[in-house]
Amino acid sequence: MSGDDLVEARMRFIYTLRSRGVTDARVLQSMERIDRRDFVTGVFAERAYEDTPLPIACGQTISQPSVVALMTEALQVGPRDKVLEVGTGSGYQAAILSQLARRVYTVERYRTLAQGARAVFERLGLANITAMVSDGSHGLPDQAPFDRIIVTAAAEDPPGPLLAQLRIGGIMVVPVGQSDTVQTLIRVTRQESGYEYEELRAVRFVPLVEGIGQ
Ligand code: SAH
Repeated sequence: MSGDDLVEARMRFIYTLRSRGVTDARVLQSMERIDRRDFVTGVFAERAYEDTPLPIACGQTISQPSVVALMTEALQVGPRDKVLEVGTGSGYQAAILSQLARRVYTVERYRTLAQGARAVFERLGLANITAMVSDGSHGLPDQAPFDRIIVTAAAEDPPGPLLAQLRIGGIMVVPVGQSDTVQTLIRVTRQESGYEYEELRAVRFVPLVEGIGQ
């Protein structure tokens, strides 16, 4: 793509997000600043601005941009927040969050993906992201509690350790349901008295898998 084509493709990208119902100006600004092309490699780089999930290494996928935007919007991230993301994948969602939060911890079960994402964060100077290899279904007890938690892989139920690591007043966004089918994106808000659950929309994610990948 030539320079002009790139500028136009990125403008259309933001326009598509708006047309899919994304209204939060801070989220749109963050998605304008972070270039999805930096997170898609090889033959798929050409398709970085399409509103579609794309394959990445280890048989995983970078999520559909409008879903990234809507999940980020639902998370209501503030500039003082400490955020945990489970499922680093390409690192794209973490990069978007890095523009909105004070600090982002992101965990991935595949070392290859975590290393790849870390390299991109470094190249882009996204210094407030810490990427680690671990089974995110256990959360990150050493860094808890979190103001916000986002899970970008589908679990049958919101994992108990993640619920426990959410600060009172905190919000978690997580796709739930059987893998391989359509799942429901839910938002959990932790209150003094317990957890409040809201169903947001239908989504489709790769499954949350236990243990570290090979
Ligand atoms: N947020 C990513 C997309 C993630 S795809 C992006 O912006 O590109 C889901 C990712 O979750 C995959 O990379 C998968 O390996 C990872 N994953 C699945 N189960 C996990 C677990 N238990 N702990 C950490 N990562 C997990």
